[in-house]
Amino acid sequence: MDDKRAQVTEDQVLAVLAEVRDQDHGKDIVALGRVQGLVLRDGNVGFTIEVEAARGPALEGLRKEAEDKVMALPGVVSVTAVLTAEAAAGPSQTPPAPQSPAVGPGPGGPGPGGRQHAQALLPDVTHIIAVASGKGGVGKSTVATNLALAFAAEGHATGILDADIYGPSLPRMLGITSRPQSADGKIMEPLEKYGVKAMSIGFLIEEDTPMIWRGPMVMGALEQMMRDVNWGALDVVVVDMPPGTGDAQLTMAQRVPLAGAVIVSTPQDIALIDVRRGLAMFNKVNVPVLGIIENMSSFACPHCGEESHIFGHGGARDCAAQLGVPFLGEIPLDIEIRQTSDAGTPVVASNPESDHAARFRAIARAVWERVEKAGAGRGGPKIVVE
Ligand code: ADP
Repeated sequence: MDDKRAQVTEDQVLAVLAEVRDQDHGKDIVALGRVQGLVLRDGNVGFTIEVEAARGPALEGLRKEAEDKVMALPGVVSVTAVLTAEAAAGPSQTPPAPQSPAVGPGPGGPGPGGRQHAQALLPDVTHIIAVASGKGGVGKSTVATNLALAFAAEGHATGILDADIYGPSLPRMLGITSRPQSADGKIMEPLEKYGVKAMSIGFLIEEDTPMIWRGPMVMGALEQMMRDVNWGALDVVVVDMPPGTGDAQLTMAQRVPLAGAVIVSTPQDIALIDVRRGLAMFNKVNVPVLGIIENMSSFACPHCGEESHIFGHGGARDCAAQLGVPFLGEIPLDIEIRQTSDAGTPVVASNPESDHAARFRAIARAVWERVEKAGAGRGGPKIVVE
C-alpha cells in the first residue's frame, strides 16, 4: 500500500482521463476540453465533465469510466466526477446527489469564459473582493477574515465567503460550529459572527468527513453558496479563495463576479514567485489586482521587543513596485494573530485597539479606496495589470 501514499498529480489525472473517449465525438474528453475544475487535495480528486445537456442521461457510463480510471491511480483516495451541461445547452443534468442535504452541485457552469454568467450571482453586493495567495500557509484565510472584520469596523455591510471547498478555514477562523438554517429548504441563511455574514462549505459538512461527501463538487457548491444563500444587500463580500493558481482557481475566479483581488504573500522569494503567478491568473480573467499584502512581515520578540525579519522583509513591497501593483500594507508575524485566528476570535474583533487591528483597518481603507476609485463595482472599468 506504500504507493497509495504517493501524491497524485494533475498530469497523471489528465493522462488517464485522456483515455476516456466520447464516442459521439470520436475524441477523448481531455482533447475535447470537457474536463473542467480539476481539484486535487491529499489524494481526493474532483472535476466536472462538461457535456451537452441533452446527452447527459446517456453519459453516466462515461462519467463512471472517468472516475474509475482516476480511482485506479496510485495515491488516489476518492474521486468525484460530475457531469455539467455546457452554457449554451440549457439546464444541466442533475449530478449525483450529495450527502449533505443543503448543498449539492448547482446548475451546470457556464463553460469557459463564465464571467458574464457569474454577473448574475450576488446581484445585491456592491463589491466582491477575492483574497488569494499563490500557495497555502501564507496566512491568506487569517488576512481574509480580519480584512472582512475590518471592512465591517469601517462601517460597511460585509460578508465573507469561503471559496475553499476542500479545505474550508472559516469555521475555525470565526469559531462557528452551528449550521445554516433554511426556512424553505432552498435558500439558506448565512451565519453571522462579529457583525459579518459568513458562508462556508465547512458549515455544512463535518471537518473530518469531507471525503465521504461525494456529490457536491467545487463549482456547483461554490455557485450554490452564492446563489442559494440569502446574502441580501451588502457593501462588500470578501472571498477567501483556495490557495494556488492552478486551473481550478482560474475557473473559480471566473465563476465569482469579482471587483478585484488582493494577493497575500510572505516576504520570501518563493512566495513572491507565486504572487507573479497570481497576477497572471487574475489578468487572464480580467480581474484587477487591487494590491499585495505582506503577511508575517516582521517578528517582534515578545520578551525584548526587538524586531527580526524571519522571512526577510519588504519583499512583497519590492515585488509590488516591480510589478506596478499597489502595496497595501504589512502584517507582522505575531503570536497574538496566530492564537486569535486559530481560536475563532480574530484580532480585529477581539482586540480592536491593537496595532494589528489598526493595520488591518488601514488595509481595508486602502482596498476600499481602490475599488471605489476604480469604479470596480458592477460594470465599472477594469484596471489591467501587465
Ligand atoms: P492560509 O489560508 O494561507 O493557508 P492561514 O490563514 O490558515 O493560511 O494561516 C496559517 C497559520 O499561520 C495559522 O495557524 C495562522 O494562525 C497563522 N498565521 C497567519 N498569519 C499570521 C501572522 N501574521 N502571525 C502569526 N501567525 C499567523
